[in-house]
Amino acid sequence: MSDVRGRLWATSEVMSRSIRSLPELAGGSKVVEVFGSNTFDVDAMKEKLPKPVFRSLQETIRRGSRLDPAIASEVAHAVKEWALGKGATHFCHWFQPQTGLTAEKHDAFLTFDDDGRPMERFSGAQLIQSEPDASSFPSGGMRTTFEARGYTAWDPSSPIFIVDGPNGKTLCVPSVFISYHGDALDNKTPLLRSMEYLSERALGVLRLLGDHSVTRVVPTLGPEQEYFLIDRAFYALRPDLLTAGRTLIGARPPKGQELEDHYFGSIKDRILACMQETENELFKLGVPIKTRHNEVAPSQYETAPIFEEANVASDHNQMVMETMGRVARRHNLALLLHEKPFAGINGSGKHCNWSLMDSEGRNLLEPGATPERNLQFLVFLTAVLKGVQRRAGLLRAAIASAGNDHRLGANEAPPAIISVFLGEQLTRVLDGIEKGETTGASAMERISLGIRKLPEVARDQTDRNRTSPFAFTGNKFEFRAVSSAQSISLPIAFLNAAVAEALEEFEGALSARASKGAPAQETVLELVREAVTATKNVRFEGNNYAPEWVEEARRRGLPNLKTSPEALAELVHPEAREFLARTKVFTETEAEARYHVRMERYVKDIDIEVEALRDLVSGHVLPAAYRQLALLAAAGNGRTIRSSVERMEGAVEAVNARVQDLQAAAERAAGESELDARARVLAEHVVPAMASVREVCDRIEESVVDEFWTLPKYREMLFLV
Ligand code: ADP
Ligand code: MG
Repeated sequence: MSDVRGRLWATSEVMSRSIRSLPELAGGSKVVEVFGSNTFDVDAMKEKLPKPVFRSLQETIRRGSRLDPAIASEVAHAVKEWALGKGATHFCHWFQPQTGLTAEKHDAFLTFDDDGRPMERFSGAQLIQSEPDASSFPSGGMRTTFEARGYTAWDPSSPIFIVDGPNGKTLCVPSVFISYHGDALDNKTPLLRSMEYLSERALGVLRLLGDHSVTRVVPTLGPEQEYFLIDRAFYALRPDLLTAGRTLIGARPPKGQELEDHYFGSIKDRILACMQETENELFKLGVPIKTRHNEVAPSQYETAPIFEEANVASDHNQMVMETMGRVARRHNLALLLHEKPFAGINGSGKHCNWSLMDSEGRNLLEPGATPERNLQFLVFLTAVLKGVQRRAGLLRAAIASAGNDHRLGANEAPPAIISVFLGEQLTRVLDGIEKGETTGASAMERISLGIRKLPEVARDQTDRNRTSPFAFTGNKFEFRAVSSAQSISLPIAFLNAAVAEALEEFEGALSARASKGAPAQETVLELVREAVTATKNVRFEGNNYAPEWVEEARRRGLPNLKTSPEALAELVHPEAREFLARTKVFTETEAEARYHVRMERYVKDIDIEVEALRDLVSGHVLPAAYRQLALLAAAGNGRTIRSSVERMEGAVEAVNARVQDLQAAAERAAGESELDARARVLAEHVVPAMASVREVCDRIEESVVDEFWTLPKYREMLFLV
């Protein structure tokens, strides 16, 4: 391949690809037959475990509690028998360090008996706990080197599964990852803690409301995952995609998403083949993938599962991201999970559909069939409003990353201001409650607030506000500002804790007033009314992308944390740390450690981008410009040629000057000794300097001869598969 023809080579390479279809998929096995076949599910447990052990394990899972060590070895034996029967040769504890990815260390089921003969072994101790060296995982300084040990411990609430590899199978045990002192080093632990706290608080409220049958409340979660798939040949030729996950330069294609012809369009065969294979793998792992479709941007797609308990949904989302990447490679495709891989084209998010379900399977955010259920609905609804209002800064912190900064506030994405959309009907109901109205505005929502008469609320199916970062959608909330690439554990843990805190306050207020002998329902309604009034400023029904909203939000006193460093600082506010400690999500030390890990990550991400951008300029942009100048020089000295030369020379000068500015800003950042100061310089000076370099690079791309441009162009990456 000659140096200038990488792009053309990639194009022809892509054009010659055939669609990969797998023989075992061609037959079209039924979803229900393969679903969960690689998980140690209820059926497998029933078959392999003695009855009392089975019951005890079921109880553990149902209650979300820890495993009784007394049954560990029997469970381990059953798991081993099941895994060996499936052909597994290795096992691992599968956990989620703060890299946002998952980690696993494989061990063979191998030991030697007294006579030195090899045998397969998997003990209760190995099932429950393992001890990977924690020193290479981010800890935010919580782990001193002499205590490099970290522990992983099985989380029985998430099913054990087997992953197929090219030459063998591995048993994976979903686990938490903690330090020697029990500090959380992972993303799962805070989520589990928040779920426990939320359940307690929700039960407290339900009891006061007269419901004594419920034994547990869990948050449910259905994350809609957006992503891009492009041909791997193009990916391989884009150093920026390879190192930074996004294109740092690249002129807009003549046709972008303007025609709106991609959204829900028919899926191209090659992409569909990849999706089907991915889904098949996920079905085996018990991940309930439900929908797939084209997204708004060219080459952008979405997949969504059926909702599950938050912890399992979060594990499953990690499996979705991993499996998508792995299968994409088999199809010579590259998965882009970055929040903004292409400038000027929609970015990707992960809409987290969230609700609360009680142990009877009822959705607590579903408007009820009876007035009592409706009152309960309003209590939980206003608790969410209060939680989001009070902890907006922390929710913003939980979704902060260098990548998501490009998306929050950019086109077609929620802004950095956290507000809640409720929809027209519910807004009218709440407004009515606030005014103490006794009758509602329409037949659909008769609101009777007279003594002992409770509001009626019907499920709102009508309107949608796609611009809101946090929207009510009939019987659940949709946290839309979450990033496509991140683990959803932390945002959901913070949301759980925020709502739990509001429920706790409600419980306190209600028990205080109830003891004064006020009629229960009226008191509850009064508290709801107070909450409605108090949370008015976080409710916003309008267009979140409108510039006026930023102004309006400022007047309302809502935080607008535009960059990651600003947002992450929320983690270490004394008030936030106290809240996190009180709700048991993080100890104060853990919160501090998270802050460090996330800030360091931000700094590293930007540093890498700066490096990659400079390489692109010197290795691709300038050489293309010089070739263009040589071509022009050879073409003579006419007036138009001279003006083209001048323009190109002007562009080259501009690139050089702007790269120097970028360099200066980067050096200034590197000179800051404090992490937060450094991150702020990056956000405020380096990121804009990169955009400015990019602007002129894109102009050069548009003015050089096509064949001189050695990088795959947007039009190729986005439209050729
Ligand atoms: P949409 O109109 O947004 O497409 P869907 O009903 O298709 O709504 O749901 C989108 C996602 O929300 C799916 O993952 C779905 O499983 C999830 N979802 C539905 N109900 C709940 C719930 N009660 N709790 C959490 N997630 C839910
Ligand atoms: Mg949705």
